[in-house]
Amino acid sequence: MSYRVLSGQLKHETNTFSRLPTTLDSYRARYLCLGSEVAKAMRGTLTEMGAFLDAADRFDWSLVYPIAANATPSGRLTPETWHYLRDTLLGSLERDGPFDGVLLSLHGAMVTDTTEDAEGELLAMLRERVGPDMPVCVTLDLHANVTEQMAANASALIAYRTYPHVDMYERGIQAAELLQRAMEGEAHPVCLVRHRPQIDGADHGRSQSGPMAELLRRAARYEQEPGVLVVSIQAGFPWADITDTGPSIAVTHNGAEARAVDIAESMMDYVWETRHQRTIEVINTEDAIARCRAVAPAGKPVVLADFSDNPGGGSYGDSPALLRAMVEAGLRDAAFGVITDPEVVQASIAAGVRGKISMALGGKFDPEVTPPFDIKATVVSLSDGAFTYEGPMTKGLQASMGPSVVLRIGGVDTIVTTHRLQVLDRQIFVSQGIEPSEKAFVAVKSAHHFRAAFEPISSEVILVDAAGINSPDLRRFPYKHVRRPVWPLDLD
Ligand SMILES: [Zn+2]
Repeated sequence: MSYRVLSGQLKHETNTFSRLPTTLDSYRARYLCLGSEVAKAMRGTLTEMGAFLDAADRFDWSLVYPIAANATPSGRLTPETWHYLRDTLLGSLERDGPFDGVLLSLHGAMVTDTTEDAEGELLAMLRERVGPDMPVCVTLDLHANVTEQMAANASALIAYRTYPHVDMYERGIQAAELLQRAMEGEAHPVCLVRHRPQIDGADHGRSQSGPMAELLRRAARYEQEPGVLVVSIQAGFPWADITDTGPSIAVTHNGAEARAVDIAESMMDYVWETRHQRTIEVINTEDAIARCRAVAPAGKPVVLADFSDNPGGGSYGDSPALLRAMVEAGLRDAAFGVITDPEVVQASIAAGVRGKISMALGGKFDPEVTPPFDIKATVVSLSDGAFTYEGPMTKGLQASMGPSVVLRIGGVDTIVTTHRLQVLDRQIFVSQGIEPSEKAFVAVKSAHHFRAAFEPISSEVILVDAAGINSPDLRRFPYKHVRRPVWPLDLD
């Protein structure tokens, strides 16, 4: 007999300190696939939906996929956006049901204007409609803030185990295989979650070393035990001011509740004990500039990563703080990618190549957090911003920064774009006529994903906290909703 499975993807990592609302246009700018568009866009990709489609062929399921949607991290979803996404998925229960099982790809850190636990609300509404016995297997990002509501209403929660996230497909297959076992009645997965009073920890999820590597080893060992189905580690997403922000362990078991509780508690003990451990060092702008001045020329650039204004974590990507420090320090032969400022792009287009402009750059989204920088610049080049990723991440994908310009500000060739984007590929520079490997200093808006492309060409990598809304100094943020007391805001 062929099982009928409801699948779908609703993703967002919401930075609640961002003023930038997330709308359906934010989704359309990345992807918002409906019905048959889902298979067209996702089949053959190394994503969760790609895995669900392959599993459907393998297990001979009748797979229904009303929606797959993802938007670049930003502020809370507007109510219209949230209701549209949620209802498009849940509406399929009545339109296309009945179903034997549900397979979802979520992020686990979505916050809307109406709910701080969007995935929990979605899963609770789903559970209410399908009843207590239907298996519901869910994949999550490593940076999920998992709530009791999510764990209580899902049968299984399965987060990525890599950062950069290169195991989306494997986790999708893992969820599909477990769903198949559950639909056949071989397993009855039940999920529980544990936290500690901490909004940070697990070393932000670096998976190759440090506490996260040890947690992954322990999880693999526990998963060999009878009755233990999945031990899922979530590093959490601390730039979300909600009750349950923070690292968590979710254990999915098969009638072994007491053992599952022991495992989750002991893993969280380890997360708590190692909360001070860091495998990365993020330094302030002054120290970063001092280090730039101290390095001997090595024929390769020093790469400065603006960790705190990373659009990949919901930052605006228009903070000129690090750029200003580089210009004021008189760094020469430097490049900066990218500052998002459509007004400056338009003024540069009007001035033309070799034209001069004198105006405020950046800091437009939230001037209180990141004030603008009054620049005097020469327009070096103009473009439509189109480029193709050369890899290693998302190789071959075509993208656009929107109309873009290169401005020479002091000794820094600065790319100014219309769209927000994380700088994780060298083509972002090369497409604008800048060869980053030939520069003395290269600054990028990224926290971690840039490493794959830029670490190999660098003499040194410096992570900089220039006070954006992904600053690792969490005590800087006005948390109001998170449970208290909590580390590192109150404890230690
Ligand atoms: Zn993530």
